[in-house]
Amino acid sequence: MGSILGFPRIGKNRELKKALESFWSGRGSENELENVAKSLRLEHWKIQSRLDNVCVNDFSFYDNLIDLAFYLGAKPKRFRHLDGLECYFAMARGHKSGVACEMTKWFNTNYHYVVPELSIDDDYKINIESLKSQYKEAKDNGYKPKISLIGLFTFFGLSKVVDGKPQKIFQKVKSAYFDLLDEISKLDSNVLVEFSEPIFVRGLNDSQSGDLKCIYDRNIIECVYNNIAKKGIKAIVSTFFEHSSEFSEILLKTDICGIGLDFIYGEKNKQSLENIANSDKILYAGVIDGRNIWIANLAQKLEFLEEISKIIPKDRISVSSSCSLLHVPFSKENESKIDSEILSYLSFAKEKIGEILLLESAFKNGVTSEIKESWEKNIELNQKRANSNKTNNKEIRDRVANNKLFARSTPYEERIKLQKSLLDYPILATTTIGSFPQTPEIRALRLNHKKGEINTESYNESIKDYIRDCVRFQEEIGLDVLVHGEPERNDMVEYFGEQLMGFAFSSNGWVQSYGSRCVKPPIIYGDVERLKPMTLEWINFAQSLTKKIMKGMLTGPVTILNWSFVRDDLARSAVCEQIALSIASEINDLQNAGIKIIQVDEAAFKEGYPLRKENIEDYELWAIKCFKIATAIAKSEVQIHTHMCYSEFNDIIKSIEALDADVISIETARSGNALLKVFKEIGYVKEVGPGVYDIHSPRIPSVSEIKKQIKALLEVLPKEQLWINPDCGLKTRKYDEVKPSLKNLVDAVKEIRKEI
Ligand code: GLN
Ligand code: ZN
Repeated sequence: MGSILGFPRIGKNRELKKALESFWSGRGSENELENVAKSLRLEHWKIQSRLDNVCVNDFSFYDNLIDLAFYLGAKPKRFRHLDGLECYFAMARGHKSGVACEMTKWFNTNYHYVVPELSIDDDYKINIESLKSQYKEAKDNGYKPKISLIGLFTFFGLSKVVDGKPQKIFQKVKSAYFDLLDEISKLDSNVLVEFSEPIFVRGLNDSQSGDLKCIYDRNIIECVYNNIAKKGIKAIVSTFFEHSSEFSEILLKTDICGIGLDFIYGEKNKQSLENIANSDKILYAGVIDGRNIWIANLAQKLEFLEEISKIIPKDRISVSSSCSLLHVPFSKENESKIDSEILSYLSFAKEKIGEILLLESAFKNGVTSEIKESWEKNIELNQKRANSNKTNNKEIRDRVANNKLFARSTPYEERIKLQKSLLDYPILATTTIGSFPQTPEIRALRLNHKKGEINTESYNESIKDYIRDCVRFQEEIGLDVLVHGEPERNDMVEYFGEQLMGFAFSSNGWVQSYGSRCVKPPIIYGDVERLKPMTLEWINFAQSLTKKIMKGMLTGPVTILNWSFVRDDLARSAVCEQIALSIASEINDLQNAGIKIIQVDEAAFKEGYPLRKENIEDYELWAIKCFKIATAIAKSEVQIHTHMCYSEFNDIIKSIEALDADVISIETARSGNALLKVFKEIGYVKEVGPGVYDIHSPRIPSVSEIKKQIKALLEVLPKEQLWINPDCGLKTRKYDEVKPSLKNLVDAVKEIRKEI
């Protein structure tokens, strides 16, 4: 027994991805898609069959939030004339009758949900046939189902109010949500529903903002969950990713039957134990990490559960995953690439269910002869992992401990003078963010090289050809600072991870990022160190082709960390410092080779921000420290750039300043100069490259359009402080789009320079 909050739906071999993409392209029929979905659900329930229940409605064709919007009949006006899957996929992916709903990150994970749009004139006519049939499917196959449903407060809190007063819309949504629950309650007597309410882990941070006020109202929360219970629904309310103490207290006063809390990322949930003890609720104790891929230390977990059971009776505690297993890959069963010792330390979704069953059994019945072998195996593995020389490297630890370089040796004001005179770049210097289009040829080339079908020599020649063309083009149109185009990189984190010690890569460890898109995050299992230069050869080659400045291109330590599965036996900050020193070594090699500008991308800097205000300071402290460790080694005359893909800087502007990068390029193209104002307001003096056109769209911006954009920027910051560039890397675009766009960018700058 025991429980989880959801299972990965993409399939062991990404069957759902393939079926979806085939359906979208018109190759596969709706029927075929439904059949794949059905067989995936059956397979996943089978894996869950020994748990208390199997999860129903954790499955989705795209995302659970947009599913719920669809059930509730909350459709954007532009799609209201559509029905069924056509309407559903229009909301998720766009349609000829309008653009898709926005997508954004699910709390601090790398999963993205589709943001439902709510408006007052919608009729909120519910439609839950698909949920009903999934429930029936589970019953018919002999399973005990638990419905996974996003809670009303989380749904409303994460949706976008498009028109109408939030309070009024909330009433409408609430009433539709109750209609939905009426239908659900008819499915069974005492139908079990797990309501996910992660919004409550944000604490009261958002409670002041107008739109969300109504969902932080104690009376409303009480009333909603009491009414749910009145319908004869057995309700469990779960929060995850942090603690939810302020709200657990409210929830415990309602007539729900259980509460699910995350004890991995929400230490402070312990504060709620007394209250739970004094209620009649079941505690679903989230002790198996649903976001990481390491075997659990079951002996330690058992100790923790025994501790809790001194407060809450054992029969009211159920062992659970900390959140849905959506965030980890399916199973490690067919992994062949990973070193066997490291593999033995891994636990993906299927293996985690095994851990939950084992732990629940040990907790309820003791370590009986039946589980003894597996139990001892787990203890042994944990000991081995703690002492292994694969996970501990004294030399690396010493090197990090003895590092003395924490900041650039001269202040910015001095550095920039030196740089400006030595590098001699014009005002409004033009550059790009790094990558150029990843053509089908270049992708095939990398793949074939990886498979061993092309030898390294001819692979290198082809990469060089790409770089040659790329540099020639940049020279032709007259960009000021050039890049090599990143043709050798499949991914900005994987490329570095593959060359660093302490990283492993799975062959099938896919995790859903959004819709049918999956990522295979690197696994950081041991101490990290650079073994040899990672980019030097390519950058040197590129520089040899031109007299202009070639910008070295690296991924920053915080981004490498935030986009990987990180070991759980060392503080994240410590892992990040190790990565930072590896990047520092690379910077040193580049500058010694004569590279004068080096960009250290921190695309995921903001993504690592904690969910609760009280933890932000700590994160900022070590994240900034790590970026500075990575770049401190740069000589004063070497210019350090960084790049961040955001268009919201208000909250983090002080941290950006503290990174002490000489130049930062940012993603402002879609928000014009409004965003830039915050730089001016705080008196930001370092150089800034606001994106002047949106690379996410295939549109080619005209010269006059870019000129207008630049003029708007000049109203905010002086010309000496500005760089001109696109708003992100160009790898997803086609050369046909990139060439004219960049040419227009350079021409626009030339005209402006004449005018001012
Ligand atoms: N240098 C990287 C590129 O141009 C940066 C990508 C990113 O910011 N996501 O692709
Ligand atoms: Zn970017």
